[in-house]
Amino acid sequence: STELLAVRDLRIWYGTDRGPVRAVDRVSLDLAPGQALGLVGESGCGKSTLGRGLLGMLPPAAATDGEIRFQGRNLIGMSPARLRSLHGPAHGMIFQEPLTRLDPLMRVSEHFEETLHTHQPDLTRDEARHRALSALRGMGIPPTRYRSYPHEFSGGMRQRIMIALTLVLRPAFVVADEPTTALDVLVEAQIVRILADLRRNFATALLLITHNLGIVAESCDRVAVMYAGRIVEEGDVRQVFGAPAHPYTRELLASTISLATTELHYIPGAPPDLVDPPPGCRFHPRCPEAMRVCPARDPVDVEVDVGHRAACWLHGPESLVPPGMDARLT
Ligand code: SF4
Ligand code: MG
Repeated sequence: STELLAVRDLRIWYGTDRGPVRAVDRVSLDLAPGQALGLVGESGCGKSTLGRGLLGMLPPAAATDGEIRFQGRNLIGMSPARLRSLHGPAHGMIFQEPLTRLDPLMRVSEHFEETLHTHQPDLTRDEARHRALSALRGMGIPPTRYRSYPHEFSGGMRQRIMIALTLVLRPAFVVADEPTTALDVLVEAQIVRILADLRRNFATALLLITHNLGIVAESCDRVAVMYAGRIVEEGDVRQVFGAPAHPYTRELLASTISLATTELHYIPGAPPDLVDPPPGCRFHPRCPEAMRVCPARDPVDVEVDVGHRAACWLHGPESLVPPGMDARLT
């Protein structure tokens, strides 16, 4: 297939005293080279866990099940050493909090030389330098600062250097987890532009995890809406934002749109506890359109339009809704 990434029935959970926290529960999705998928939803719905899971960067306490095919190889069950060998050339991650820190004793130039030498030993010194400078320039760090030490930069600049260090390898797949919350608006625009360049020039695929639906509308091809560990709706950005099929997506969009009109719309209630989620559709306690079938049965994915799916009983399939069960709950 032409897919870069094919995820099937992925589950990720953590054991706790209260029982397993099911952060990701039977998630399936596909990503093609150069494609950008936005992943949206409230805090605590499993977005970050899913992002880390797709890169094989989960903490050792996490248990996984299902399939993550990346360039044809299943990452589930792959040894930590093999997973690490993928990071860099194949995988990159831009975090709210960077995973690694800059070494205070190494110049910025040395960080780039070491990273490039480790992952792309065929590059000449000149090529490496050229690549590093252009990655830094893209993040607004002038070439004159190339030989500086980390402490000579502000915190925001150090973060941009970290991002440049990830992107200089031109990874096939980047996960950007809320890359903009800790950064100023200027940097937000720079990151979005650089990611667009990478996609165009090197077919880098992107998973963009964010609360900002506007950025998704602007920079992604597709969007997946996550609620309580599940993807409840997925499709082309225009389809999902233009004709949202799932009540949760509609609530999310309403809360964003009213932000612009300064009238804050909150989605009533809170996301569920992932140790003991509500039965049936997990959104039913908060759903304005819940029906009798909703707490009784798990909704199934229904294709509401070509390439646009939603898991909500409003869309059927009718054959699975027993007579009378389509009556409103309230
Ligand atoms: Fe609402 Fe029912 Fe759809 Fe869940 S399945 S989102 S409760 S209508
Ligand atoms: Mg998060």
